[in-house]
Amino acid sequence: MIYNNTYKKIAQGMLALLVGSLMMTWGASGGEASVITPDTGRKPAAVPKRANPPQPSPSSAHASEADGAEAIDVQKKSGVDNIIRIGIGDGVAKGVISSANGMNALKGTDGRLYDEFKSNSVASVSAAEGKLFINGKKTGIASMVFTPVDGSGKGKIKYNGHEYRGQLVVSAAGSSLTIVNRLSLEDYLKGVLPSEMSPSWPGEALKAQAVAARTFTLYTKNQKAHFGSGYDLCDSTHCQAYDGVENEEDTSSAAVETTAGHIMTHEGKPIYAAFHSSSGGCTENSEDVWGNYLPYLRAVKDDDSKSPFHNWSVRFTAAEVQRLLSAAGKNIGQLKGVSMTTSGGSPDAHGIRRAKEVKFAGTGETIVLDAYEVRRIFGLKSTFFNIRTERPVTLPPVKRDAKGNSTKKTIDTAPAAMHGAGLQVENASVAVIFDGHGFGHGLGMSQYGAKAMAESGKKYDGILHHYYTDIKISKLY
Ligand SMILES: [Zn+2]
Repeated sequence: MIYNNTYKKIAQGMLALLVGSLMMTWGASGGEASVITPDTGRKPAAVPKRANPPQPSPSSAHASEADGAEAIDVQKKSGVDNIIRIGIGDGVAKGVISSANGMNALKGTDGRLYDEFKSNSVASVSAAEGKLFINGKKTGIASMVFTPVDGSGKGKIKYNGHEYRGQLVVSAAGSSLTIVNRLSLEDYLKGVLPSEMSPSWPGEALKAQAVAARTFTLYTKNQKAHFGSGYDLCDSTHCQAYDGVENEEDTSSAAVETTAGHIMTHEGKPIYAAFHSSSGGCTENSEDVWGNYLPYLRAVKDDDSKSPFHNWSVRFTAAEVQRLLSAAGKNIGQLKGVSMTTSGGSPDAHGIRRAKEVKFAGTGETIVLDAYEVRRIFGLKSTFFNIRTERPVTLPPVKRDAKGNSTKKTIDTAPAAMHGAGLQVENASVAVIFDGHGFGHGLGMSQYGAKAMAESGKKYDGILHHYYTDIKISKLY
């Protein structure tokens, strides 16, 4: 498997996770992606809040149509805006910009040339009173577009050490800067995809992921979370992680190119294309995870058997449970018992359902926590778990004969684990064990499942239709 910088970061993150599993802080909503972005299917900004997930609503459709360029109603294939604006700097004091083949600075107001910068010469941009300064010189202009000089149209522009395709739009807001990378949606996706799925995975899985990422990008753009700041998505996991060209890989770029313009729609609108790393054997219904019904996020069987997250188990002593709960502001005193309920959701491949609530009974207080909060507090990979307790190993006193030799050849082992609800915890050394399946929220496409489908010869559209119910794959441009 190829590991670029992103993977290294993630691998390091995962190592840290294993080492410090007690402190894992992934939220329930992260976009639950692949190997790579575990919770990621979709990321916090765009992830529907559990209490209030997105409703594909007529009002939002109306708003986007009223907006002209924002409209992505597939009925209007002509004039679709294929440009995306990514905020790569917001509220920054200074931006250092250059281009290997030189660049032009164009006035934001009329697009006329303001200045030329030779190969690798630097424009150090700052702001005061709403106007830009370049290399210390007052420009009297509030917004400037830096565009690479390259006859091939493939020039890149460098900002703070990262290279980007397209242009950089730098705007002054008081004494700080907003820096926006304006580029084609397709070029943007080439930078995004390798962070979501390993470029070494089968081409059809990468193509499915490319369509999901494109769909998600347009859905997020329509949410207008950053509209007031002058861009469509930010470059962090808040929207979708993006570092410009440096993550690009040939295989994932090819997947973007061969699916160019294709998105998933439901009733003519881009869907909320949730995905996650590993389902554990069955994906979920949106209402069982986020509390809100989305017609295209339905539970389906999933071949998850080859996922490294298919089965997992995490063990905590009662004392650790108490400490973690306490660190999360839940002081229950000494843990006396644990019980859980499961969602009414889908039947699964393991005879258990996703957890719904967990009750921790303590000497001080008894609390009931939402499974997502339990997942966060204990750093679990999913809410697809069961709980058991295990007694500590107790060593009986060693009996010795008259010569001082031990008469006991074996050590008592711990009693078999007790499965089920309403477990009693007798003392602080008793272990509480979470046995689980999968990685992520379980909604939409399972990436390991998509990989397995691709390996068995399925095409990307078949993969998408399996994980997203009642959708169309439409070509926007
Ligand atoms: Zn964002």
